[in-house]
Amino acid sequence: MTKLIDGKIVAKEILDNLADEVLFLNKKPCLAVIIVGNDSASKIYVNLKKKKALELGFNSIVIELPEKTLEKDLIDKIEELNSDKNVNAILVQMPLPKHINPLKIIETISPQKDVDCFHPYNVGNISIGKKSYVYPCTPKGIIRLLEYYDIKIEGKHAVVIGRSNIVGRPLSQMLINENATVTLCHSKTKNLSEITKTADILISAVGKPNLVTENMVKDGVVIIDVGMNRLENGKLCGDVDFENVKDKASYITPVPGGVGPMTICSLMVNTYDLFKYQNSL
Ligand code: NAD
Repeated sequence: MTKLIDGKIVAKEILDNLADEVLFLNKKPCLAVIIVGNDSASKIYVNLKKKKALELGFNSIVIELPEKTLEKDLIDKIEELNSDKNVNAILVQMPLPKHINPLKIIETISPQKDVDCFHPYNVGNISIGKKSYVYPCTPKGIIRLLEYYDIKIEGKHAVVIGRSNIVGRPLSQMLINENATVTLCHSKTKNLSEITKTADILISAVGKPNLVTENMVKDGVVIIDVGMNRLENGKLCGDVDFENVKDKASYITPVPGGVGPMTICSLMVNTYDLFKYQNSL
C-alpha cells in the first residue's frame, strides 16, 4: 500500500522539539536576513523566515537594502554581520539585482554563518564527504524525510532529476555520502524514462508539471517531488503526475505538504546548529 510522506507532520515535530530546546537557552540563536530590492516573492519568503524564527524563540534581523545598493556596500554589510557576535546565521535572499555578482556575495558570508550552505567551502566539504557546519536546506529536508519514514538509502539506486546548485547537485552528493548509488539527470539527459524506471528512490527537482508519469517508474519506488508549479487555475502541483503514479509507489510526497515544509524547517535547524557550533554547545 502506498504511504504518503507528510512533510508538515515531520517539520512540526522537529520544530516543536527545537522550540523546547531554545526555551532553556540563556542566549537566543539569531538569524540575519538581507534583502536587496523590491521583489515581491522574495519579500514574502523573507517574512516567512522571520515569522518562523520568532515563533521558535530565535532573534531575527531583517535588513532591507534598496535596489540600487552597490555590490561593495552589500559586501561591507555582510562583513559587519560576519564579525557581529550576536549574529549566528546570515542569509542573503536570492535573486539579487543584476549588477551584483551572487557568487561574490555568497563567498563573502563566513562559512561558519552560511545558513543556506551555498559557500564553496561548505559545498566542497559535502562533496568530499567531510562533515560540514550545515547542509543545504532542501536536500537536508529530503534526507530527514527518508530517515523519518525509515526508508533505507544505503545500497539503493537514487535517481535525481535536476542539477541546480540548491537542490539536485548537493542532494546527489549527500545521497552518495549515505551510500546510495546515484544517477543525476538533467535537461540534456537522453532516455530519461529508461533511467527513472531503474530508480529505487526517485527525486524530481525540475519545475515541470507531469514530467514524471506512471510509465516512468517501477513498482515500489519511493518518490520525492521537489517541484513547485503554479497551474493556470491557481493550484500548486509538483513535477510528478501524482494521481496516476501514486499507486505504483511505496512512498510518495504530496505537493503541497511534502518537501516544502522541510526546507524552512532545515533553515531553522541550520541556524540552531550554527549557534551551537559558535557557542561550543
Ligand atoms: P532550476 O530551475 O535551477 O533547474 C531545473 C533543473 O531541471 C535544471 O538542472 C535542468 O537541467 C533540469 N531540467 C529542466 N528540464 C528538464 C527535463 N525536461 N528533463 C530533465 N531535467 C530537466 O531548479 P531548482 O531551483 O532546483 O528548482 C526546481 C523545482 O523545485 C522548481 O519547481 C522549484 O520551485 C522547486 N523547489 C522547491 C523547493 C521546496 O522547498 N519545495 C525548494 C527549491 C526548489
